[in-house]
Amino acid sequence: MAMRMSTLFVRTLRDDPADAELPGHKLLVRAGYIRRVAPGIYTWLPLGMRVLAKVENIIREEMDAIGAQEVKFPALLPREPYEATNRWTEYGDNLFKLQDRKDNDMLLGPTHEEMFCLAVKDMYSSYKDLPLSLYQIQNKYRDEARPRAGILRGREFIMKDSYSFDIDAAGLQKAYDRHRDAYIKIFNRLGFEYVIVHADSGAMGGSASEEFLAVSPHGEDTFVRDDSGYAANVEAVEVPQAPKQQVTVGDSHIEPTPDTPTIATLVDALNANHPRTDNRAWTAADTLKNVLVMLRQPDGTREPLAIGVPGDRDVDAKRLEAKVSPAEVEPFEEKDFATYPHLVKGYIGPGALGEDKGIRYLLDPSIAEGSAWVTGADQPGHHVIDLVYGRDFTADGTIQAAEIKEGDPSPSGSGTLKLARGIEMGHIFQLGTKYAEALGLKVLDENGKLTTVTMGSYGVGVTRAVGVIAEDNLDDAGLIWPRTVAPADVHIVATGKDDAVYLKAEEIVRELEALQLEVLYDDRPKVSPGVKFKDAELIGVPTIVVVGKGLADGVVEIKDRRSGERREVPVSSVVAEVL
Ligand code: ATP
Ligand code: MG
Ligand code: MG
Ligand code: MG
Repeated sequence: MAMRMSTLFVRTLRDDPADAELPGHKLLVRAGYIRRVAPGIYTWLPLGMRVLAKVENIIREEMDAIGAQEVKFPALLPREPYEATNRWTEYGDNLFKLQDRKDNDMLLGPTHEEMFCLAVKDMYSSYKDLPLSLYQIQNKYRDEARPRAGILRGREFIMKDSYSFDIDAAGLQKAYDRHRDAYIKIFNRLGFEYVIVHADSGAMGGSASEEFLAVSPHGEDTFVRDDSGYAANVEAVEVPQAPKQQVTVGDSHIEPTPDTPTIATLVDALNANHPRTDNRAWTAADTLKNVLVMLRQPDGTREPLAIGVPGDRDVDAKRLEAKVSPAEVEPFEEKDFATYPHLVKGYIGPGALGEDKGIRYLLDPSIAEGSAWVTGADQPGHHVIDLVYGRDFTADGTIQAAEIKEGDPSPSGSGTLKLARGIEMGHIFQLGTKYAEALGLKVLDENGKLTTVTMGSYGVGVTRAVGVIAEDNLDDAGLIWPRTVAPADVHIVATGKDDAVYLKAEEIVRELEALQLEVLYDDRPKVSPGVKFKDAELIGVPTIVVVGKGLADGVVEIKDRRSGERREVPVSSVVAEVL
């Protein structure tokens, strides 16, 4: 049934919505596809539903084609399965948590590995039941810190998520490859320019993982590629000089001896030679806060000696050999950061050293916990770290990847890296046995032995895909949908007040529909042609047919929304012309 503008639930807007930054987002709202309810939460209107259904169906067809079976899990879920895999905690603030009337903890599912795993555990018990792939197209909930660009990063959004179950790694590899091929078909059909990149498995766990990134200047992901076909999300690039690898901890070339001064010795030295002005003594905790120790050379110059945590043996081998006396050490001061560029401010978050949150420091919090010290002095065989607060460390103590630059040598060994931005459209994971182990999903193998099932999980952002298509297909006047996902194939605009025009337009609508074309018909009797044309451009159906004054001469106008090309055709051949 044709959608008629006279009754369609739509109000096009002349002005941009105040909260929208990206052009596609603005147009989706202005043209009446979506409407905002709250940050990152959107209502889908009839035009939007049409586009969404087409995207979903492309995905559905390709999933069905690889033998995956469609199911639908609830979005409202109990806490326990997520507790068993530790994701109740691990997912952090992104998880929407709530309680039912009996005070049971519940969540709104951000992704469903646990639930699929348990369903298979409930129903299957033998290797003969496998392989199995299941999928759903369903609402997901993530309390994103920065919802963005309307539906590109929502807090409620639609994802196609599928899960594969196999008896062994070879089976998983096959399921993964089948999904990868299906994703290639899906993203080709959706018309994206995309790259498949090596990805970080992140909170999902597991080993191999790849992302499908739509190449876009609006992307929040940065990826690198070289000319040999290597491509990776920068999050997943293994650069040898990444801070994590770079930090040298408890390096074995320094063997503490009975003479090695401990932090306690150094604290004593500070108290003896550099008493504080505020009437209290230096303590080991102060040494942390002050990034401990400088060495005063005989000529009066100062040099960084070492950094330590309380109670640990500290100090570098060279200085030990030189038999440094505690009297020669001084507290490190703020100004020393300027003098010694290789000593840079780091940060220790909670958890690494308890409540000492926010202190300036030099070392990686992930290693501070388990190890004694990090040298701050440059010396043979010791790569001194260049960690900068804000660049390499964030306020919660997380370490960022080292900066990768355009032109860096490619880890593939072939050529140099180019950088570009992309939007994550899909992500495929070989999870292995992480979830099956945590939730006890085992089946009997060929020899009657219980074996843990191995899993994969595969996601596509469905609503995000609509957003990306919109950003990629627009001009100043409005959206320009590719035919495969357009809300209709043809937009018929009848103009003027002449009944004959409307009768003819109705006839054309019926003929097109008989040929299975979807039609949006602007039948509004009291709206000016100018407004109708503007709306047609804004809504962005690929072919626009204007039935108006020309009808008296037996012609109608066909306009191609993308090229802007217009031609007059005899009314008798209009159906053949738009096919
Ligand atoms: P991102 O890096 O963009 O936050 P993600 O890595 O957290 O995404 P996955 O857990 O891999 O996302 O989920 C699978 C797919 O779901 C993603 O590839 C993306 O297309 C989509 N997706 C994830 N978060 C959102 C969101 N907040 N809004 C819309 N789509 C999303
Ligand atoms: Mg995310
Ligand atoms: Mg991601
Ligand atoms: Mg991802």
